[in-house]
Amino acid sequence: FAPWDDPTEKPLIRFRNVTKRFGAFTAIDDLTLDIFEREFFALLGPSGCGKTTMMRMLAGFETPSEGTIELAGQDIAAVPPNKRAVNMMFQSYALFPHLSVYDNIAFGLRRDSLPRADIDARVGEMLKLTRLEKFARRKPHQISGGQRQRVALARSLAKAPKLLLLDEPLGALDAKLRQATQFELMDIQEKTGTTFVIVTHDQEEAMTVASRVAVMDEGRVMQVATPERIYEAPESVYVADFIGDVNIVPGTARAVGDGLFQLNWAEDTVPFIAASEGAFSEGQACHLAIRPEKIAISAERPPEAENAVHGKVLDIAYLGNLSTYHVELPGGQVIKAQTANTRRISRRSFTWEDPVWVSWTKTAGVLLDQ
Ligand code: ATP
Repeated sequence: FAPWDDPTEKPLIRFRNVTKRFGAFTAIDDLTLDIFEREFFALLGPSGCGKTTMMRMLAGFETPSEGTIELAGQDIAAVPPNKRAVNMMFQSYALFPHLSVYDNIAFGLRRDSLPRADIDARVGEMLKLTRLEKFARRKPHQISGGQRQRVALARSLAKAPKLLLLDEPLGALDAKLRQATQFELMDIQEKTGTTFVIVTHDQEEAMTVASRVAVMDEGRVMQVATPERIYEAPESVYVADFIGDVNIVPGTARAVGDGLFQLNWAEDTVPFIAASEGAFSEGQACHLAIRPEKIAISAERPPEAENAVHGKVLDIAYLGNLSTYHVELPGGQVIKAQTANTRRISRRSFTWEDPVWVSWTKTAGVLLDQ
C-alpha cells in the first residue's frame, strides 16, 4: 500500500480530454485529470502554463473548447457559476472595506436569505475555525494582513462549498507569516473536509500543503503525484528540474539485468549504474537525474561505493545548515553535491581545486528517457 494509489479515493472533479483555446492559442491541451474528495491539490507550473485557466473553468468563468469537466458526477458545462458548489478565493481577498469581519463572512449567507439564527450559527463556526472570534466587529483595515487572509477564507467556506479554489492565497503575506499560514490552511482544510485546489508559483508551498501536486507545462500536466513522488521519482527531466535542485547527466543506456542499467556518460570513464523500473533499449539516449543531497563527497574513494568518480572542487557555497560543492568530473560535467553541516566544526571540509571523490548508490537517482 502506498498513499498515492489509495483505492478508496473518490474523484470529486474529473477533467476529461479538456482543451481550451483562446483564438488560435491553446491554453489547455487535451487534459485528463482526477481530483479527489477531501484532497488538498496543488497546480504548479511556470507563468502562462494554464493554471488560472483551469481554475476559471472549474469556477465557471470559462468553458472548455473541447472535453468535459465533472463535479461530483455531474457535467458542469451547463451549470452557471453561482449554482456550482464551488467557491474561489482571490489573492486580493476582495473583502468589503465598509463591512465588519462578521458581516463580510455573513454576506453570502444573507444573500441566500437564510434565517438569522442559522446565519449567526454558521458565522460563529467560521469565526472559530479561523480564530477570528475576537475580531468579529472590526473592519478589514483594523486587522492585520494575516487576519484579513483568514476572513477571506472564512467567507469562502461559509456556504460549505464542495470545492474551494485558492489562487495564490498567500501571495500578499511575508515569508514568516506565509509559512505559519500554510499550516493553518492545511488544518482548516482537514477540519472542513472541503477539497482545496491551490495555484501557487511557490514550489515549497505546494510541497508543504498539498496531498498531490500536478506539475504543468504549456497547458499539459507533466506529472500528478504526492510531493514525495514528485521529488523522489520524477518521470521527466522537466519535472525533476522544476522541483528543487537536481543534477542531470546525459548519456546512453545499456541494460545489465536485474533492473539495472549502465549510463555511459563520457568517453574513457566507468559507466554509472542505476536501478530503474523503466525499459531502455541498447544505446538509447537518457538522463540520470540525481539530487545534490544524495551525493557524498570524500577525499578517498569509499570502498563500497556503487558509483564513484574522481573530480575537482570548482566552487563551494556555505549556506549555514548546508554546504554545496560544485565538482568538475572528467569530460567537463559538473556535479553538485550537498552536505549537511550537522557538526559545529566540520571534520573535513574541502576547498577550491581540491581533488575529491563524489559517490552515490545505484538507487540514489532516476534514469529518465525524456
Ligand atoms: P500565471 O502563473 O502567470 O498566472 P497561469 O499558469 O495561470 O499563469 P493562465 O492565466 O491560465 O496561466 O494563462 C495560460 C495562457 O493562456 C497564457 O499564455 C495566457 O496569455 C493565455 N490566456 C489566458 N486567458 C486568455 C484570454 N482570455 N484570451 C487570450 N489568451 C488568454
